[in-house]
Amino acid sequence: MTAQIISGTEIRKAILGEIKEEVDQMKEKHGKVPGLVTILVGSSPASISYVTLKVKTAISLGFHEIQDDQPEDISEKELLALIDKYNNDPDIHGILVQLPLPKHIDDKKVLNAINPDKDVDAFHPVNVGRLMIGGDEVKFLPCTPAGIQEMIVRSGTETSGAEVVVVGRSNIVGKPIAMMMAQKGVGANATVTIVHTRTKDLASHCKRADILIVAAGVPDLVKPEWIKPGATVIDVGVNRVGMNEQTGKAILKGDVDFDAAKEIAGKITPVPGGVGPMTIAMLMKNTLRSAKLSLGMS
Ligand code: NAP
Repeated sequence: MTAQIISGTEIRKAILGEIKEEVDQMKEKHGKVPGLVTILVGSSPASISYVTLKVKTAISLGFHEIQDDQPEDISEKELLALIDKYNNDPDIHGILVQLPLPKHIDDKKVLNAINPDKDVDAFHPVNVGRLMIGGDEVKFLPCTPAGIQEMIVRSGTETSGAEVVVVGRSNIVGKPIAMMMAQKGVGANATVTIVHTRTKDLASHCKRADILIVAAGVPDLVKPEWIKPGATVIDVGVNRVGMNEQTGKAILKGDVDFDAAKEIAGKITPVPGGVGPMTIAMLMKNTLRSAKLSLGMS
């Protein structure tokens, strides 16, 4: 049987529609809209394209959006002063600094200077700690893990009591999604295993998974025979494996051998069109949440 494809493109569309509705209501009731500032330092083409997409999405939702582009040679002190300005701006609910920053700037120092209540990327140690505590403590979830959890929930996958195996232990994907799936609550209550390069017998762990989340950055790492029949497979990996000479665009592949895996899994995310499109939607959701919290809305 061929697996149900969990489309990140479709789910993102639904989420952005829900956000737009809430923004319209907020505007009508409170005369306010969520405010997001995106700070881009320098002119790396990849960073420009990420920022442009974020800005376009924010504008399409009716957010108050400031695109604050700064030259490559901005000093760390000047950048910290800029963050301080937005920390104190009541119309800004989310501050996003596009990474990577130039070498002369300590990105940890910069990210830690963002007010945790405006840290919509959820990279600040305070928000990492809140995620660990769980429940009402959590203000924002990191965007990629939040997108993964949303896909699991919206695809109707049962998580309570499920065996979840997470391949990868990075701070931006593996560790947070593992913690989120182990928490008490909707889309969680799972029994979680994290595996990595030092794990003995990766295959045997993957084979146990009712929900297999793969974030390793290794094309086709997960073989079809590692997948439990009927499992939900979330492929976070985005690997450039070549160039399409006709379109000039990169050929992308996930960490799972998709064509073979879809014949065994119950549900599976594609690459591209899976987890990737979800991240920006969750960033917008965090900014909306920040605005709601600032207005005393739940
Ligand atoms: P990362 O920081 O490089 O971490 C990769 C993790 O995978 C590490 O913990 C590593 O183990 C583990 N790993 C690597 N090779 C392995 C192997 N052969 N067997 C077992 N474990 C292995 O990567 P990341 O930032 O989490 O990103 C992972 C992938 O997701 C990348 O392809 C990235 O492009 C993609 N990604 C996509 C999105 C999105 O779509 N929005 C967002 C973020 C990341 P060790 O710790 O032992 O080294």
